[in-house]
Amino acid sequence: MASKKVTGNCGHGSKFFCSRCRLPRISIHNLQPATWPRPLTRTEHEAFANAWKASPSKNSQAKHLKLYGIRWSALLLLSYWQPAAWTITEAVHVILLGLIPRHCRDLLGLNMKDLPTEEEAVEEVGIRDTKRPSWQAGLPLNFGCPEHGKLKADQWRTVMEFDLPVSLIQLKATRKSSGNVQEDEHLQKVVDATLDLAMAIAWGLSRRTSAHHAERYQFYMQRYLTSIILVFPNYKLKPNHHYALHIPDILLAFGPLHGTWAFSMERIIGRLQSLNSNSKIGAWIWTFY
Ligand SMILES: [Zn+2]
Repeated sequence: MASKKVTGNCGHGSKFFCSRCRLPRISIHNLQPATWPRPLTRTEHEAFANAWKASPSKNSQAKHLKLYGIRWSALLLLSYWQPAAWTITEAVHVILLGLIPRHCRDLLGLNMKDLPTEEEAVEEVGIRDTKRPSWQAGLPLNFGCPEHGKLKADQWRTVMEFDLPVSLIQLKATRKSSGNVQEDEHLQKVVDATLDLAMAIAWGLSRRTSAHHAERYQFYMQRYLTSIILVFPNYKLKPNHHYALHIPDILLAFGPLHGTWAFSMERIIGRLQSLNSNSKIGAWIWTFY
């Protein structure tokens, strides 16, 4: 959301919700990037921004923003700035705090009220018996039940890179058939979708990247999103699902996602928030570094 304010783009709920293309929100289930309307050029973006700036009242600015999705930004003072191409799809919020929690809550039903007890929830994902490397972020022992609280981004990463795939495969291997073919098929499709998401994340969050990494990420992410629509036909995709399909462009243009993701900035924000500034901005900033 911060990048949208800085770059002069409108919010996630707007018609033109994406800063990197002009796909209208109503077409969010279109998973074929090749068919998406191209982004605005710098000239087109600037024309909308200037028209917004020249609007005579806040009301008319709001109407202009709703119609065209662009407001003026001070970044336009930089003649070389490219609004669409240089707006990052940021991996921590889109994937680690976006897609993974959505998958767990909306599609697997974890952390939902229909898991009756903490014991059953723990049993479900097998967290208690998991032995993990010391560098990997551990999960709350009661993960999977409503009381586990808010997970951090690196814990969500652990969930999808390790715990869920392993637990679901274990569940699939040990579970007896229900005798209901439809139910068994549904479970298989959910397991397959989860593994596709895990594979996409493994390729996307690799510390190395290449055209091959971008292509593999795109393949698994597209198959994951397609399967969501098929397995859960009433599910409405969210802006993060669309943004996730822009990640290959980011990998190719800016390199591994570690270079552009928000961990470092979030850490600085956390430190700034814990400081007592006494409303004297600038008085303490030099002692901070
Ligand atoms: Zn887009």
